[in-house]
Amino acid sequence: MHQFSFKNESLHCEDVDLAELASDHGTPLYVYSAGTIRQNYLALENALDGLDHEIAYAVKANSNLSVINTVRELGSGFDIVSGGELYRVIKAGGDPGKCTFAGVGKTEEEIRYSIDAGIYCFNVESEEELVAINSIAETMGKVAPIAVRVNPNVDAKTHKYISTGKSENKFGVDFGLIEGVYERASKLANVHLKGLQMHIGSQLTSVKPFLEAVEKVTPLAVSLKEKHNIEFFSIGGGIGIVYEDALASGPKKWWDGQSAGERPLTPALYAEKIVPVLKDSGLKILLEPGRYMVGNAGVLLTKCLYEKKGTAKTFKIVDAAMNDLIRPALYEGHHEIVPVKEKYNSTVKMDIVGPVCESGDFFCQDRELPDFQPNEVIALMSAGAYGFVMASNYNTRPFPAEILVDGEDAKVIKPRQVLEEIIEDELDALEE
Ligand SMILES: *Cc1c(COP(=O)(O)O)cnc(C)c1O
Repeated sequence: MHQFSFKNESLHCEDVDLAELASDHGTPLYVYSAGTIRQNYLALENALDGLDHEIAYAVKANSNLSVINTVRELGSGFDIVSGGELYRVIKAGGDPGKCTFAGVGKTEEEIRYSIDAGIYCFNVESEEELVAINSIAETMGKVAPIAVRVNPNVDAKTHKYISTGKSENKFGVDFGLIEGVYERASKLANVHLKGLQMHIGSQLTSVKPFLEAVEKVTPLAVSLKEKHNIEFFSIGGGIGIVYEDALASGPKKWWDGQSAGERPLTPALYAEKIVPVLKDSGLKILLEPGRYMVGNAGVLLTKCLYEKKGTAKTFKIVDAAMNDLIRPALYEGHHEIVPVKEKYNSTVKMDIVGPVCESGDFFCQDRELPDFQPNEVIALMSAGAYGFVMASNYNTRPFPAEILVDGEDAKVIKPRQVLEEIIEDELDALEE
């Protein structure tokens, strides 16, 4: 669900007119809905009522400090994958004691920083990392809290680039080897075994792989609790959102996030299947949703610069590009595309492309869409997760601005980058 809708034929985020935002702040422009983030969080909380659980928002999906703060105010913890993300959480007023730290390549510097800050737990992804954390903690005279990430060898049935729970993926410790790693860990003096973790992939649109994974791993978690007295079992993130809606392409239709070509994996359906398997485990269950929390809560506004009619295709060239939103180029991500003014009665088949010098720089290909014209603004829907966080300065294009809407309020939470900021440190080197 989300809070983007047409009012007076103009697309709004909550009570704020997106065309006005684009004209006040320029494009490309990320706009997020605080109300949608809250609604998503609370829907998951409600669905899990009765299960001993904690939500740890996966910060990498959208790490703007104001987004972290919005989630923090709801009582959420955080799943981080770098020292940089821990730094962000702390700067946003978050509690390091509610942070779990995942990732296959934690550096010594990151491990020290996290031990010092007092994070809740390291989610360890290899035996080598376990040994490293133990010796770093030893030099600090500390005991580091750890869980081991198990790779359950379950097919998440998502795009191969965002699948993480199969034996051939780099993540976690093989299911068959995990008990040996706990044995080894239990003999190390400077780590304390606190939990078990898994995360099988992202953008899962069916509950089946989740169910398969919790059914396979819960007995292991229970036995580790008996042997090593662990207190939590983290089942990871990965709840998918609706990106694609068959209704969206008509001139007067637009995507409502519900009446979908894709069926939403609702929190209720997710909970209905997995809670029965988990609820008698005696363990605290951690969830690490990222995309689910913020994906549908954001759009990227972009302005049409040119229309170019070739012999084979019609191109609409817009001012956003793959450096602003890389999902289509990186893993064939789909975004519904909606002109912010609802006035079109004809459609054309088009490619929407950005100015960057790469043929992968497109937002859609051969899609039948309202025939918007140069200077008009369109919204790339569902761009709240893995959008701005993956942006780059490729082609020396400044980062877009970000705005957080809450009811009638629209606040710039990151100003548009200016060219001076991109080159200032390089200039220093020139002037030395
Ligand atoms: C990326 C990641 C998540 C969040 O994934 P989503 O698909 O955004 O929910 C959760 N846990 C871990 C360990 C991750 O790496």
